[in-house]
Amino acid sequence: MEVHVQLQTHTKLFCRCLRKFGDAPNSHTCPVCLGMPGALPVLNEKVIELGIRLGLAFNFTINKHSEFARKNYFYPDSPKGYQISQFEFPINENGYMDVELSGGTKRIGITRAHLEEDAGKLIHQKDKSVVDLNRCGTPLIEIVSEPHMCSVEDVRAYLDQLKQTIQYIDVSDCDMEKGNLRVDLNVSLRKIGETELGIRREVKNLNSFRFVEKAIKYEISKQAEILESGGEVVQSTLLWDEKQNRSYIIRTKEDAPDYRYFPDPDLPPVKITQQQIDKINSQMPELPLTKAKRFLVDYSLNSVDVERLISDQKTAQFFEDAVKYGAEPQKVANWILVHLTREIKELKQTLDEIQLTPKMLAELILLIDQGKITDVLARDIFKKMISNGQSASTIIKSDNISVASVDEIGDVISQTLLKFPKELERFKGGDVKLKGFFMGQLMRETRGKADPKVLNSKLDEILNS
Ligand code: ZN
Ligand code: MN
Repeated sequence: MEVHVQLQTHTKLFCRCLRKFGDAPNSHTCPVCLGMPGALPVLNEKVIELGIRLGLAFNFTINKHSEFARKNYFYPDSPKGYQISQFEFPINENGYMDVELSGGTKRIGITRAHLEEDAGKLIHQKDKSVVDLNRCGTPLIEIVSEPHMCSVEDVRAYLDQLKQTIQYIDVSDCDMEKGNLRVDLNVSLRKIGETELGIRREVKNLNSFRFVEKAIKYEISKQAEILESGGEVVQSTLLWDEKQNRSYIIRTKEDAPDYRYFPDPDLPPVKITQQQIDKINSQMPELPLTKAKRFLVDYSLNSVDVERLISDQKTAQFFEDAVKYGAEPQKVANWILVHLTREIKELKQTLDEIQLTPKMLAELILLIDQGKITDVLARDIFKKMISNGQSASTIIKSDNISVASVDEIGDVISQTLLKFPKELERFKGGDVKLKGFFMGQLMRETRGKADPKVLNSKLDEILNS
């Protein structure tokens, strides 16, 4: 698999144009990224830092010496007539990733990760095609894996962890809708027991994991059909047709381009020192797998909850901060995964955008623990906290919210039981299941103002007296 990821820099790879998506066409261009004769590229230093971060996260050998090379081909979205990439000497080589699968841990080798510039975008209109060069020259890292993945499950685990880790280390937002993570897929078949890889077909430029899965399944059945009918798979490049759910050939080996790579004479080799690597290493955040293992141990949560909590770094941080303010880990997890997730979804906002802080959530949970509010009241208060940014105690005060006292609860129970003399008779006669019926009536009657535990024990007391 070859995965192209757009690096999270302020400016482009070799010029000072902004790396911005969605602005007016060709508004972020200059002589360098327009490929004007005589314009000279200057390497964006930030890109090297991000390359090293990625190298550290995926156990790569980070090369102290790497070079940029020209990959020559003509296409109208690339005005220089070549792409600046890395060929013989990439920044990262020989990495790997361990993925957790249903059958245990599997190590997937990652051959290399090299830096290169992206092309612009062609927009095809009714009677003409136009080009937007805002993306031209934005920095990419291309991550090439070994042929170690043998199923859709393997691929999905690899891609999910790749994306999650890259987001964790702030190398890219991996926003697939903006094309910031794109997958080229090489699929080949071989008979059981054979070790040599079959001839492959490459499906290029997939921008969703769902299409990746579909393309793998399609290629497997298509290639099996060719081989089983006695034919040969022809090495070829394909694109995915999402409407027809099939891949189609755009070129075969015979017309594969010869890129005539050579070192770019305008760019000196990239030199990286051990000191530089050590410094970046000391600033690396905790990676998802390590965090997952720590959460399991430190907070005694189940693995499903942990997986969801660490799915993105911000949620994980929010959880840990709320726990630091004294709330019980499992309760914090439940509030985040059930109520907070639902509210955010309904509001179509992100965790950053809402006004709730970890401290506010912790306070709410502690108020329930202290019996100051019930779960039912807490849910209403929570909604208000999110919409107006006030703390639970402020809302309790301003809305005059209070929990029913034991005496008040006793009164409600007595009055309620009087409304159901027949049921009470049957209960006394031994039909103890009716207690559930009384509880239901009382919950309705108290409208969440009574602590269910207090209600329950008081009901027992009265029924038994
Ligand atoms: Zn530029
Ligand atoms: Mn590439």
